[in-house]
Amino acid sequence: MANTKYVFVTGGVSSSLGKGIIAASLAKLLQARGYRVTIQKLDPYINVDPGTLNPYEHGECYVTDDGAETDLDLGHYERFLNTPTSQANNVTTGRIYQSVIQKERRGEFLGKTVQVVPHITNEIKERIQILGKSGNYDIVITEIGGTVGDIESLPYIEAVRQLKWELGDANALVIHLTLIPYLSAAGELKTKPTQHSVKTLMESGIKADILVCRTEHELSDDLRRKLALFCNVRQEAVIESIDASTIYDVPNLMLEEGLDKVVLKQLLLQDDDEPNLEKWNDFLQRHKNPKCQVTIGLIGKYVELQDSYKSILESFIHAGAENEVKVNVVSIHSEYITKDTIENKIAHLDGILVAPGFGERGTEGKIKAVQYARENKLPFFGICLGMQMAVIEYSRNVLGIKEASSVEVDKNTPHPVIDIMEEQKSITDMGGTMRLGSWDCELMENSKVLEAYGKSMIAERHRHRYEYNNNYKEQLEKAGLRTTGINPKTGLVEIVEIPDHPWFVGVQYHPEYKSTVANPHPLFIAFIRAAVEYSKNDKSAKVSQG
Ligand code: GLN
Repeated sequence: MANTKYVFVTGGVSSSLGKGIIAASLAKLLQARGYRVTIQKLDPYINVDPGTLNPYEHGECYVTDDGAETDLDLGHYERFLNTPTSQANNVTTGRIYQSVIQKERRGEFLGKTVQVVPHITNEIKERIQILGKSGNYDIVITEIGGTVGDIESLPYIEAVRQLKWELGDANALVIHLTLIPYLSAAGELKTKPTQHSVKTLMESGIKADILVCRTEHELSDDLRRKLALFCNVRQEAVIESIDASTIYDVPNLMLEEGLDKVVLKQLLLQDDDEPNLEKWNDFLQRHKNPKCQVTIGLIGKYVELQDSYKSILESFIHAGAENEVKVNVVSIHSEYITKDTIENKIAHLDGILVAPGFGERGTEGKIKAVQYARENKLPFFGICLGMQMAVIEYSRNVLGIKEASSVEVDKNTPHPVIDIMEEQKSITDMGGTMRLGSWDCELMENSKVLEAYGKSMIAERHRHRYEYNNNYKEQLEKAGLRTTGINPKTGLVEIVEIPDHPWFVGVQYHPEYKSTVANPHPLFIAFIRAAVEYSKNDKSAKVSQG
């Protein structure tokens, strides 16, 4: 196709309406019709990327193959589309300003006064079109973070207005996601907040082409007509987005509402064939009809906010569907795991996942949890910090090195079994300086990981500063903690496992970033399978004991 088409998704009335899921669902439908689609997120905050943000702020930081630290919505895009994203898919105000200021310092603006309009808006327009100009996509969907009317969103809205004017209605359209609140006292759905937010958009010169209305109740024809009339859209362009039991239902709900057709019609693209959602629906079928269930403890320190471990939770859903198992995830705060509470918190579980994390808080609880899983043959999966805790636990309790620790936790530890990477020692900047992105890893013969992946060379995404200390490798191996995955170029240890345990695997990388609906992650699949086995054996053991 000659020119790329652009779809913009803005939000009104309230935050947290799920723009990312709507964008991903539309993209899924367009992809299932054979279009090449990608999604981009523009974030109006001033951080250059979310890498320096505490997970309590915006949830998990998602990492791409090219090592970009990005918004968690990119995770949804990849999980829905099964195609990788990159740095170009997430742009923040901080990054925009950083690049404009660098250009100014280089004298690229030839003595002009540098201003929000046109310099910042031009930079935004350029960033939006980078993906389109790559020639790799027929349609680029750009999600504008924040809510219309926010001061910080204004330059983005202005950039969209200009692009829409330049490209024309057949090449660029705006979807406005809004909320239709239900007033139970009046027993009515209310359209007024939507009318106001469409008007706010209009004041910035943008007419919404499509309204996607989040609602707890069905929209009647009358209400759709009213919304269309007062918000200046065609009636078929009023799309209901009713609360769904799973985000993975949203593409089908949008299909029923005809969102993809309305988009294609306006963009003058062919919409005759129905989207092919066979694989997707097959996944949904298995997700909704589990044959048994397991309960997994997710042990971390940011558990109060579900979004902190978004990709891990979604990976469990994918792996659960693959195994036809319902995976109940119980969040356990690592700070509250002590020798007195551990039995109560962990004994009833079918497996534990010790989560990634930073800093000292909660690490002793994680170590205790690892010990429990190791000693009781409970399936264990350690990710990043979770793997590092497993190495410390083994060093302390099996090798007998009582003072073993990570330099991150105790910088003067006499036994840094987890040490700072050599190239990290001189780095002082926090942002974008960890070991990031995709790195190769070679898997060893006769290992659980080789069995799970079914191939010996893998590439997985990283985000860490500290590392397994190879000086302790020989001792640890001898004592039974096998290293079964190694970076072939650097020799860095990527995976540890205990052969003499039903399933004890710790990985330095983040497998959760690569699990998608179409490709559930092999390690999550294998871990859930081990948990199912454990739950059967454990239960029958208990019955025979009883
Ligand atoms: N804090 C650890 C490190 O920097 C682990 C990071 C993580 O879990 N993502 O190495």
